[in-house]
Amino acid sequence: MPIGVIVAVAIVCIVVAVLSSAQRADEVAVAHEKQLFSGALANYGRTVLSEVDSVASSQSATQNIRHKFDPVWTEQRAGTWLAAYFKHDYILVFDGQDKPVYSMIGHHAADKAWFESARPELIELINYMRGRTPAMSGAIRLGPGSRTDAGAQANAVAIRSVLGQPAAIAAVAIGSDEGIAPANDTAAPIMLSVKFINDEVLAAIATQLGLVNLRAVDDSPVPQGDFVYQLHAPNGDFIARFAWSAKQPGAEIVQSVIPFIAVALAGFALLAAFVLRYMRRTAVAIAAGEVRLRHLAMHDPLCGLPNRIFFGERLEAVIRDVRTSKSPAAVFYIDLDHFKDVNDTLGHPVGDELIRSVTLRLSLALGAGDLVARLGGDEFAVISPVNGGTAKMMAMAQSIITAICAPYNIGGQNIVIGASIGIAVIDRDCAGAADIMRYADMALYRAKNEGRNRAVIYDAAMDADLSKRKLLESDLREAIETNQLRLMYQPIVNKSGETMTGVEALCRWTHPTRGEISPVEFIAIAEHSGLIVDLGAWVLRQALTDGKQWPNLTLAVNVSPLQFRRADFAGLVERTLMATEFDPARLELELTESVLLGNIDTAEASMLRIKALGIKLALDDFGTGYSSLAYLRRFPFDKLKIDRSFVMSIEKAADAAAIVHAVVSLGRGLGMKVTAEGVETADQHLFLRAAGVHFMQGYRFGKPTTAAEITARLEAPKDYLPVDVPAAMAV
Ligand code: C2E
Ligand code: CA
Ligand code: CA
Repeated sequence: MPIGVIVAVAIVCIVVAVLSSAQRADEVAVAHEKQLFSGALANYGRTVLSEVDSVASSQSATQNIRHKFDPVWTEQRAGTWLAAYFKHDYILVFDGQDKPVYSMIGHHAADKAWFESARPELIELINYMRGRTPAMSGAIRLGPGSRTDAGAQANAVAIRSVLGQPAAIAAVAIGSDEGIAPANDTAAPIMLSVKFINDEVLAAIATQLGLVNLRAVDDSPVPQGDFVYQLHAPNGDFIARFAWSAKQPGAEIVQSVIPFIAVALAGFALLAAFVLRYMRRTAVAIAAGEVRLRHLAMHDPLCGLPNRIFFGERLEAVIRDVRTSKSPAAVFYIDLDHFKDVNDTLGHPVGDELIRSVTLRLSLALGAGDLVARLGGDEFAVISPVNGGTAKMMAMAQSIITAICAPYNIGGQNIVIGASIGIAVIDRDCAGAADIMRYADMALYRAKNEGRNRAVIYDAAMDADLSKRKLLESDLREAIETNQLRLMYQPIVNKSGETMTGVEALCRWTHPTRGEISPVEFIAIAEHSGLIVDLGAWVLRQALTDGKQWPNLTLAVNVSPLQFRRADFAGLVERTLMATEFDPARLELELTESVLLGNIDTAEASMLRIKALGIKLALDDFGTGYSSLAYLRRFPFDKLKIDRSFVMSIEKAADAAAIVHAVVSLGRGLGMKVTAEGVETADQHLFLRAAGVHFMQGYRFGKPTTAAEITARLEAPKDYLPVDVPAAMAV
């Protein structure tokens, strides 16, 4: 718009400038022509006067008119002469008393009475000649005039109207008496001639001045483009009206300039069009760029899902909608387990590919009304309308977990990851987006703590949990730094239960105010906060130090997956072994199945490295994860520890017993030793022994206890034998 206005204004300015200069040129031209024309009229008068003068100022004229008036001479040498040769119209001769003594009109001697009719128009000049009027404006003289102001004139001519026609009236005083100053010679006869400015004269002037169509006109209007010249006597009396076709240099200017202006305007228009086009294109490009930028800003470049910002905006909108429409929604906060491990060990390209695969599976698992976003690294979130209760939400979460947990094959690598989900419900009187996300995060934490690969729905109690946890975390940090942790050792016995073959180191923390805290609780906190690395290192070192005093026992130490996945774990174990001079063959590291999740190839490599040191590996809590036979075959475990939950249910569920049987024979089949955990009763002991379990661990054979008591027990093994008799055997 502004450019259009500027261009339009510029165009208008140029046109106005051209037109006004053209008009000005026309005006100047007309003024010039006017000047030329009035000059030509004056010239005409001068010519007429000199013609009269050529006759009147001769010696013979003085002789034949002034000294002795000779009508014949006057007729022949003045009247006829002037009429014939110079085409004068009227010739009159006045005597010293202004009485006409001769008159001729158009080649014929005229009645002197005629003069009376013309006298008013001629008398002005005669009066001037006589010096009766001191000056006559517009009068032209040949040579110097009277020598005094009011003296008589020798000659004069004026353009005046004579009998309604423009004419030059010329008068010449004839001769002069000797001794009389010309100024006082008021009695000289005067020869007066009238020569009309007729068409012939005008034609001559037109030719001379180059005026087109010069003519005398009456009052009627003249055609457009003709210029009218009003000739007035100095006293204002109208003399005549002339007209000619005015030269119009302006039009010429306009005509000659028009092509340039046209080109310039075309250029302008072109330029404006270009600029407009460019601007429109730029605007379109900018708009497209904005859309692109917005898309980039709102989406994850790796997987194309909406990002955290987009998700945040949508969440706000959903919360608003829910508050007005009442139909609730929920946020599913999904965290991948072991993704970081894949990224670290297999490299980012594989990690990226894994994220894309997860994205694809998520999209397939979700409905059309669900929004899925990637919030960062290994975190995803879904906003989904809730139609149905808790069961529906949990079912949906489970289907997401199932989708994500199925094995991946990326670049020839087999990868298994897990997923935990925290769910926060958005209902009518829910808090803001930030709170919803906090709730979902708390529920997620709980899901991870409860063993991962599960979903938890937020409830208000978790808030309190969170702050408690935060407190505990800092207390635990301090406990590790100030050596407040202790180790207890639980005996592991042979199948008969009579001989202690080893111990399992179990960590203990007595909180200064809260008392004894279960390792289930604080190990989780340590894993979540990263404290597990220091804690694990401490446990290993302490266990090896304590264990040195029991040269005939194996020493089992629990290793958290987070610890195990660290690249320097094998190095740490090796250094600790060296530092404590502990025999690697007596060390048994207990790993859980989650160690195998993520990049199973590096997990295997790491295990082999540890085994190369001579250390044994035990698969802890067997049966609680999603143990696959393939894993068991592939990984170099020396031992299986059947989880307490199976042992517990042996007496209650027939199938549990069958499973234990199967597991034991499986382990044996794969060449592994089998330990049963949590053996509390004589019946469990009997059953497990019959099933072929190699080692037993449980309260029946000894609770976790101090190192000193283990030493004492080694010294007096008889004191620690189980005393009861299995119910099955007690008849
Ligand atoms: P876990 O490795 O499965 O350890 C066995 C747990 O079962 C111990 O619980 C032990 O006290 C308990 N237990 C043993 N026999 C019986 C029984 O007959 N009946 C019952 N009811 N329980 C029995 P604790 O000491 O509370 O440890 C719990 C878990 O904490 C351990 O499970 C282990 O996963 C973890 N943990 C303990 N210490 C450490 C540690 O130093 N490092 C790591 N990474 N984890 C540890
Ligand atoms: Ca264990
Ligand atoms: Ca266990």
